[in-house]
Amino acid sequence: MSGKDKRFPLPLSSIVDKGRGIGASHSPKTAMPQTAMQNQNASRGLAPKPLTAGIAGAYGSTGTPAAARAAADIRGLQHSQHSPQSKPLPQQVSAGSRPLVSDAVRRAMVARVAQQGVKDSLVLAAMEAVPRHLFIESGLVSQAYIDASLPIGHHQTISQPYIVARMIEIMRNGGTLNRVLEIGTGCGYQAAVLSLVAKDVYSIERIKALHELAKTNLRPMRIANIRLHYGDGMLGMPQVAPFDGIILAAAGMEVPQALLDQLSIGGRLIAPVGGRNQVLQLVQRVAKNEWSSTVMEQCHFVPLHKGVI
Ligand code: SAH
Repeated sequence: MSGKDKRFPLPLSSIVDKGRGIGASHSPKTAMPQTAMQNQNASRGLAPKPLTAGIAGAYGSTGTPAAARAAADIRGLQHSQHSPQSKPLPQQVSAGSRPLVSDAVRRAMVARVAQQGVKDSLVLAAMEAVPRHLFIESGLVSQAYIDASLPIGHHQTISQPYIVARMIEIMRNGGTLNRVLEIGTGCGYQAAVLSLVAKDVYSIERIKALHELAKTNLRPMRIANIRLHYGDGMLGMPQVAPFDGIILAAAGMEVPQALLDQLSIGGRLIAPVGGRNQVLQLVQRVAKNEWSSTVMEQCHFVPLHKGVI
């Protein structure tokens, strides 16, 4: 366990999202202000702007209360993580209010993930802080905290909580992550978890509608260190490379060379590899022209595809 873990000030049980219980209706799209859709920079420019750009002030009066509280929790967590002298968050946001079901079920989800072998306390705390139910369509929200992947539309899925935690744990390896690249934003859930363990997160999605969905899901949470990019993740983002961590949420038959080239020396890439039978592969860049690879465990992911749609 690294020194960074010890500085982490929040016990797992202290992060509460009292906005909404699972099973409540969920329609982040209808709750979003029009102005929130105006920032298209992330899909165009070489250096996409943070998700918060253009919506400061607009959100407070129009977004969902649950998302606002989640945002406060996430920002509090980020603040305390990156500035060791800051004070821990209060245990409860307001006295007398009762945590809803989502808090307890999220804690139970994290406990199951830990039981399955994930030990990294920073990753577990991040999983507990991110309200997974806010990334899931209303019809499936009651299943948000089961340990399974769930459909997010366009034949894609939000990854199973265990595998999200395990891959980030492997990539982090107890160290400090400055710049991380995610291939396959999907609904944006994993990007939100990553934002709590890395200083800067870049995430690429090839399906425009999912890129937009992730923006819609993430924007009310006002996470300043995520940049979403619409494009082919197999090409990476050479303009902002190198990355000290790269994580793929879709499986190719091999890891694209462009991504290996964008790892910093000492950087770690974690990817599902294979077709019907897939394994998690860890690739470490040991020198300019040298990478080492380790097979970790079996997994099952949607396929990595070329190009954009
Ligand atoms: N991390 C996501 C999981 C999404 S599933 C989450 O938390 O929800 C994997 C995603 O990878 C899909 O959205 C799929 O469209 C995307 N994908 C597949 N190939 C890709 C590519 N070449 N570039 C970018 N995204 C890709």
